[in-house]
Amino acid sequence: MSPVGSITMNHSAHKGQPGGAAGESAMAGQHAPERASDSLVGQRVSVFDLNAVSLRELLASWGEPAYRATQLLEWVYRGATRFAEMTNLAKPLREKLTANVDLRRSQIVRRQEARDGTIKLLLRWPDGQTSETVLIPEGERRTTCVSTQVGCPVGCVFCASGLGGLKRQLSAGEIVEQAMRASEACAPVRLSNLVFMGLGEPLANYQATVQAVRTINAEWGLAIGARKITVSTVGLPSQMRRLADEALQITLALSLHAPTDELRRQIIPWAKRVEIAELIDAGRYYFEKTGREVTLEYVLLGGLNDSAEQAVALGRVARQLRSNVNLIPYNPVEMLPFCRPREQDVGHFLNHLREAGVNAHIRASRGLDIDAACGQLRYRQGLEARPDQTNVFPDPNQTVPGRPPVP
Ligand code: SF4
Repeated sequence: MSPVGSITMNHSAHKGQPGGAAGESAMAGQHAPERASDSLVGQRVSVFDLNAVSLRELLASWGEPAYRATQLLEWVYRGATRFAEMTNLAKPLREKLTANVDLRRSQIVRRQEARDGTIKLLLRWPDGQTSETVLIPEGERRTTCVSTQVGCPVGCVFCASGLGGLKRQLSAGEIVEQAMRASEACAPVRLSNLVFMGLGEPLANYQATVQAVRTINAEWGLAIGARKITVSTVGLPSQMRRLADEALQITLALSLHAPTDELRRQIIPWAKRVEIAELIDAGRYYFEKTGREVTLEYVLLGGLNDSAEQAVALGRVARQLRSNVNLIPYNPVEMLPFCRPREQDVGHFLNHLREAGVNAHIRASRGLDIDAACGQLRYRQGLEARPDQTNVFPDPNQTVPGRPPVP
């Protein structure tokens, strides 16, 4: 998830109820075919929805030996965009693949590059929906931030992604394809890190998210190390536990944004059904099962959650979870009435955390001269497509449908 004006990334989920195991499991994605035979009858498939097993099954059903799957995957994750390039595959097989399998489904409809090298891509899918993907260069590191949903159902009050709510889930293949687009954008340098912090709540599109993680991590896939993959959530306790049980060594980031339930409920509508104490329990479970400490993300909103008392309270939560804390000074979104915290308040907040023994950092803003806050590029593109709706929220005090009043 990423709210904030920079590359800070977002997350969110669906139109359903956030709290409770039943509600959370109902949100899990349905876009992850397990077997080729389940998904390929009479329809085209994205190559990114296939894994090594299902691809082998597909090719076997065409009478091809298993090693063809290995050859094909090498081409795919080396970035081939046409089967015709795959010269070690026989022509009849290439033709059959062309007739049945998509190598790319997205079109890049907008590309923005910031002075610091941050690149933001707006991808359009065949159904006309769009999603955002960001590439952040930093020294040797190349990090991409991918979206898991089109829009966001959580509706955090400070975030552009929640404007307009959820449109649909992204499939595992669409998530992986975003990573491939980012990989192409940074070539010849290799993509090194990946964060699920774009539009959408990853754990509310659970199945697709986990399938995408496995492909991104796989040696036959993008081969990004599990410890360099981060899934960010506003906190769905039962899905956090489920993720812990997957035996993946990925990092889980919890977007807290407020140290008390009362304030959190004003900022994150879904927090009305989940208490911080439940998140602490789920976070501890994640640590026990994976040995990976949960990271806390905290967007600092000027005058709202950046006081000394709130820093002390956040320190208490962080110590209970043994968490590092990433502080993200808010970058204003033009249609929302929140402001960036003052620099001295950010410094004091950080010091209070450190004095409490918490390992805390301020996350540098990236891509400030482009629409880098999650959802902004997509939202702006939508407004351009519908110029009659440019004045959606003319009054900062106006209640946004589906959101609590701005505190
Ligand atoms: S509205 Fe959605 S995308 Fe935005 S910060 Fe909240 S959970 Fe993340």
